Amino acid sequence: YEEQIIISRKMESIRRLTSTYAHEIKNMLTGVKGFAQVALQTEDMELAKKYLVKMLSIIDSVLINIREILGFGRDISRNPEIIDLKEVLGNIATFLKGSLKENIDLTLIMPEISLKVFADRTDIEKVVTNLVLNAQDALPEGGQIKIEASVKQLSDKFRTIISETKKEFAKEYICLSVTDTGVGMDKETKEKIFEPFFTTKGEKGSGLGLPTVYQIVQLLNGFIFVESELSKGTRFDIFIPLKDS
Ligand code: ADP
Repeated sequence: YEEQIIISRKMESIRRLTSTYAHEIKNMLTGVKGFAQVALQTEDMELAKKYLVKMLSIIDSVLINIREILGFGRDISRNPEIIDLKEVLGNIATFLKGSLKENIDLTLIMPEISLKVFADRTDIEKVVTNLVLNAQDALPEGGQIKIEASVKQLSDKFRTIISETKKEFAKEYICLSVTDTGVGMDKETKEKIFEPFFTTKGEKGSGLGLPTVYQIVQLLNGFIFVESELSKGTRFDIFIPLKDS
């Protein structure tokens, strides 16, 4: 039953993927066709050139779209090694602090001990960046974003959820949490957030941020838990197996 749900979810996201992109590419090619027809009919070379330039720019967009489809999921886990999450988080938080809007307050909370995991540094940076930028988007009026890392065992609540997925769990995890005081999500949104190309941000969203996070965490044998309440905020808990010395 569980498997069936997962498979049908996968089918749903593939259908969404193909139809979203097919539509977008169809619209673009219709544009190119229109410009080509007008360019062919006119005697005015200057005007024809203008249309050619427009056609080229649409073709560029089509190529970007296709690159996005082909590139999704690539470049993940290129260079896994034992890394100290504290160092990686420290660096990425400093970088993000410099690029977030002024009304956003980002705090980083970390334990004294080092946090060793076996992972690709860039993957961890991608995970944190995606979560923090989503948190910023959820805070149009500004507010707090908190990144917190700690060593944890899975709580009974989480164990129960995971045992349904039949995955094995490690003794200890690093729990990486990103919490915001933003707009939150309703139940329907929450159910779809890991589907490729699901976005509530229209043109501004790609819908590829959380699917990328999901894929990275899967490869690390980790887990993601999401708690969210409308107009209260959202909390993502990412559990990654701790690499003990
Ligand atoms: P994108 O950011 O391009 O929309 P994502 O896959 O990163 O794509 O996110 C998918 C959707 O999940 C977002 O459009 C948004 O509706 C929802 N979402 C993600 N993070 C948050 C958050 N912190 N608060 C509220 N909604 C969120």
